[in-house]
Amino acid sequence: MTPVLEVRNLTTRLAIGTAIYRVVEDLSFNLYRGKTLALVGESGCGKSLTALSLMRILPQPPALPSEGEVWYQQQNLLTLSESQMRAIRGMRMAMIFQDPTSALNPVYTIGAQLVEVAELHLAIYGNEALELARQALTDVGIPSPEDRLNDYPHQLSGGMRQRVMIAMALMCQPEILIADEPTTALDVTVQAQVLDLIRKLQQERGMALLLITHDMGVVAEMADEVIVMYASQAVEQADVRALFSHSRHPYTQGLFASRPTIEQKRGQLKPIKGTVPPLTRYPEGCRFHPRCPYVMEVCRSGVVPEFEETHKTKCWLYHPDYSKELAHHG
Ligand code: SF4
Repeated sequence: MTPVLEVRNLTTRLAIGTAIYRVVEDLSFNLYRGKTLALVGESGCGKSLTALSLMRILPQPPALPSEGEVWYQQQNLLTLSESQMRAIRGMRMAMIFQDPTSALNPVYTIGAQLVEVAELHLAIYGNEALELARQALTDVGIPSPEDRLNDYPHQLSGGMRQRVMIAMALMCQPEILIADEPTTALDVTVQAQVLDLIRKLQQERGMALLLITHDMGVVAEMADEVIVMYASQAVEQADVRALFSHSRHPYTQGLFASRPTIEQKRGQLKPIKGTVPPLTRYPEGCRFHPRCPYVMEVCRSGVVPEFEETHKTKCWLYHPDYSKELAHHG
């Protein structure tokens, strides 16, 4: 299958004071039509910065132009001018965020904001634009769409606002949708409804979906392929079934062990000890080593190689010289 988007060695750096920090490091992946790739990890691992780098909407400064390659329709998006990129952003690649208020303007009605998208991106005006706005609300399951067009964002519930943001993102029929924690701010029932909606629209329209989440439950429901990120790097990359049947990286295993499931009682959850290091203080060697139950001397310095058996894992435990450590830990 030909990918819709090919990302090769994407690296983004931030200049803070006199220092430069890598916030996305050497990421490579493909997005395919009708398929979902999940980027998973705790907050502060670089997932959202990856999405913003792909869309080229990170403010510069402090960000420096991203390096690597992002191929879409035979063009490397990282080398396009801002005006060329504007024609792709919103039209061919759209993004939805955790907080719909960041995308919706509180002083304009829902209708005015949807009509603006139709005018700006599709050059459709007047009643035709209004009809498109009404249809967009119908497509995302908003009841009485004619009435909602006259509402302001604050008059809608969180779930409805999220639906409006999805409607707005999908009005131009993008080929790629990036959803950054789209349900985190919603309560559990509404979360499930919004995920169902995204999946339904994705299937109907054949969109490629890049889903950013910290929630393994959402990954299980939605993803075909998964990249686990830790401290700006991909540490494990696998087909969703392979990841759930035999995760290999100790960080991924920690994410699974700390995840509440129906069978697990509260006291059985094992949170990963420690916290994600701040960007300015990434440890030497494997960045996970201060938190890792398997840490070895070799992990504390140098570059950790990536190994690929069933799938890619960046961890010394899969080097033949150290794999006995895994057996030792049972
Ligand atoms: Fe743990 Fe070492 Fe693997 Fe890092 S490289 S995850 S510290 S075993």
